[in-house]
Amino acid sequence: MTRSHPPVLVIGGGVVGAAVLLTLAHRGVPAVLLEADTGLAYSASGTNSGVLHTGFDSAPGHLETALILRSARIRPAVLQRLEVPVLHCGAALQPRSPAERDVVTELYRNARSNGIEVALRESDGALLVPDESVTDPVAFTRAMAASAETAGARVELNARVVGIDRHTDSLTAHLADGRAVRGAAAINCAGLHADDVARLVGDRSFQIYPRKGEFFVFELPDGAQLDHIILPVPSARTKGVLVFPTLDGKVVAGPTAVDEVDKDDWRVRPEAAGEILTKAVQQFPALDGLDPIDSYAGLRPAGRGCNYVIRPSTTYPRLLNVAAIRSTGLTAALGIAEHVVGFLPHLDIDLAPPTELVTGPPVEPSDQPWWQRTSQRFRTGARAGAGQAGDS
Ligand SMILES: Cc1cc2nc3c(=O)[nH]c(=O)nc-3n(C[C@H](O)[C@H](O)[C@H](O)COP(=O)(O)OP(=O)(O)OC[C@H]3O[C@@H](n4cnc5c(N)ncnc54)[C@H](O)[C@@H]3O)c2cc1C
Repeated sequence: MTRSHPPVLVIGGGVVGAAVLLTLAHRGVPAVLLEADTGLAYSASGTNSGVLHTGFDSAPGHLETALILRSARIRPAVLQRLEVPVLHCGAALQPRSPAERDVVTELYRNARSNGIEVALRESDGALLVPDESVTDPVAFTRAMAASAETAGARVELNARVVGIDRHTDSLTAHLADGRAVRGAAAINCAGLHADDVARLVGDRSFQIYPRKGEFFVFELPDGAQLDHIILPVPSARTKGVLVFPTLDGKVVAGPTAVDEVDKDDWRVRPEAAGEILTKAVQQFPALDGLDPIDSYAGLRPAGRGCNYVIRPSTTYPRLLNVAAIRSTGLTAALGIAEHVVGFLPHLDIDLAPPTELVTGPPVEPSDQPWWQRTSQRFRTGARAGAGQAGDS
């Protein structure tokens, strides 16, 4: 029998928080999502490449890989049921040197050991990954939150958590506007600020810093088209500059990977164009001579010396940290959610058998594509910013 308790609080309304809310709602757990900003998915979740990765290049044996692969199994039904748009376009990596051919061969083996369908094209040695796809990351996040709301969960915007009181069988989250919300537990999905939230219970076990990624958006001339994701052969540090089609028929090139300090600096650096455009033209010559029509930057919530920190807080087990979800959170969100919700029975919070997914009320169609929502917000300076949660 399900015991009655206050709702589980989800701190942060990015794609991970929305997936956690959805999972809680469909396991019969009352839940409230607290998002600091004026809308969902304004941080990393709305400023990324929108690629749903297969995990073909993920290192076997890591939690990140396991959750990417798990998501790949459960995500298609969710996307379909919630009517999230997806471009099933596949990806190709083309080696340009003998050294890159070796990397591609290694990636082929890696993909096969992760159980991902891949093929090597005989003519040029390109690695083809047919199941890589592109989505609208904002629509995905909003659809999951709306479905959770229909199933009984609540979403509170402008609800920045600045303090947490610890009790034995529950906690109280204090919001910046003076409100207080009681919860049986809290799941910390605060992205760049997950370390600040953890510090509210004295947990300093991990640190998050922003790793900036900048993108340029192009409109192709009539007749030109890109029908798949072009992935570079990766280096040890980054997946490199990709070129990918968007759902609304544009082409995006990026991202950079620049370690930063300021968690509120979402500007595209002037030098980013030089770092991206030459590489993008090499990958997709149709971009040669075109001026970008727009640009945007995202900040990856990168862990200092750690990745995928998903565990009870070291100082207070009723706070579950879901932090350092740096580069694959859009892809892995549903697997991450299932994994972290699995900790709740240890806190005497019962999980009911999963119920059928329900669609939320239709999410108001956006009058602009997601990448434009992102770029305009930064340009007009309208970004509310989560700011720092105060230290306890
Ligand atoms: C340049 C770039 C490219 C990427 N490309 C891809 C890709 O192609 N595929 C992929 O799978 N992943 C990609 N990623 C990674 C992916 O975007 C992230 O892993 C994912 O968005 C992380 O989601 P999140 O919900 O953990 O964090 P966020 O999206 O950062 O959400 C955290 C939320 O918490 C809120 N918050 C913060 N502090 C508080 C507080 N105190 N109280 C309440 N709310 C708070 C914030 O306002 C924010 O909305 C990319 C990321 C970047 C930046």
